[in-house]
Amino acid sequence: MPTGAFQPTADYAEQLDQEDNLSRYREEFYTKPDSIYMDGNSLGLLSKRAERTLLESLADWREHGIDGWMHGAHPWFTLSERLGEMSAALVGASPEEVIVTGSTTVNLHQLAATFYRPQGDRSKILADELTFPSDIYALQSQLRLRGYDPETHLVRVKSRDGRFLEEEDIIAAMTDDIALIILPTVLYRSGQILDMKRLTEEAHKRGIPIGFDGCHSIGAIPHAFSEWGVDFAYWCNYKHLNGGPGAVASLYVNRKHFGTMPGLSGWFGSRKDKQFDMEHTLTPADAAGAYQIGTPHVLSLAPLIGSLEMFEEAGIDRIRRKSLHINHYLMDLIEHELGDFGFYIGSPREDERRGGHVSLEHPEAARICKALKQNGVIPDFRAPNIIRLAPVALYNSYSDVWEVIRILKRIMEEKQYEQFKNEREVVA
Ligand SMILES: *Cc1c(COP(=O)(O)O)cnc(C)c1O
Repeated sequence: MPTGAFQPTADYAEQLDQEDNLSRYREEFYTKPDSIYMDGNSLGLLSKRAERTLLESLADWREHGIDGWMHGAHPWFTLSERLGEMSAALVGASPEEVIVTGSTTVNLHQLAATFYRPQGDRSKILADELTFPSDIYALQSQLRLRGYDPETHLVRVKSRDGRFLEEEDIIAAMTDDIALIILPTVLYRSGQILDMKRLTEEAHKRGIPIGFDGCHSIGAIPHAFSEWGVDFAYWCNYKHLNGGPGAVASLYVNRKHFGTMPGLSGWFGSRKDKQFDMEHTLTPADAAGAYQIGTPHVLSLAPLIGSLEMFEEAGIDRIRRKSLHINHYLMDLIEHELGDFGFYIGSPREDERRGGHVSLEHPEAARICKALKQNGVIPDFRAPNIIRLAPVALYNSYSDVWEVIRILKRIMEEKQYEQFKNEREVVA
């Protein structure tokens, strides 16, 4: 993608924008002329296509009432399956292995209820100490439900430096007493990608099922879940996939597990042709759809139709290529322009180990974020000291990145952050 060597100039940023073969997608999103959005890894922006498919679904309700389940622009009865098919390429799965359902945390509950099968001394769950808290809460409650004490039965692999996990340390923790492994694909703070292929192989050598939380990687990096033999995965659709606040989430179940009874059953897990027989014996779908529970939140599925269409069209490989390059550019600018201000890049420098954002550490991070917002830049803060910046392939430009660093440099030179308190807001 890049032609000339890195230069810290606005001209160079513009040149990169001109060479960017995804730049036309920016116009499809609601960006604002007076602000720069760098928080697509927390909540992606609204696109015009997502807005359109949401409005079409509302019109289906208006026009068809109950018949919207089978008729209209986007029939609701099979929408979760259709969106699963549309997402399959993003995770390297076949269409029946993905279903769009529930929320991230509910899907983890479902998958843990299904695949955590403690037997004798093999009864612990392995996770890590840097994992997103909701996952830990879910696993703790799953252990309690089975009569185990989370203090002894939830094993958390330690990080050596508070930023990264070493695959060797995770593998060393795959001992005989582990019944299930849950790990992130990409760590939400540092953006480190775990080596999912290697971890899956090692888990399987020891006979342990392994599942991944893909919230921070979906839509940002390619995956090959089926090729790697991953047992299951789950992710949200409102971050890099731009499905909207509270968008319905997704889960992946490897086809080798089709037929495994869901731990948490509900009638939407039925085989489609059987569901309305209304029998009191569940006939589960012979696909990932079996792990649905109840009626899908149709209006929170609808924006995904338009949004996923864009990912199908742009292709995850092209998206990843730009994402790597624009994040690299961001890090180059940080090093070149912000060297005097005490920042530390807390993300992996190697492309193959870094997801879709850069984590910038600074003791004054909370109030630097407030100063950025005052200057029209939307970053994201993670306590105690991390500014996450996510230049997103589909709607951020290289000029955005250049402008953000120019603003950040001015904030530091003028100590503008001193006007604010160094504490996080309620929603950070
Ligand atoms: C965003 C995120 C979640 C959120 O879970 P919800 O159930 O959607 O609230 C969970 N795990 C990770 C790693 C995340 O980044």
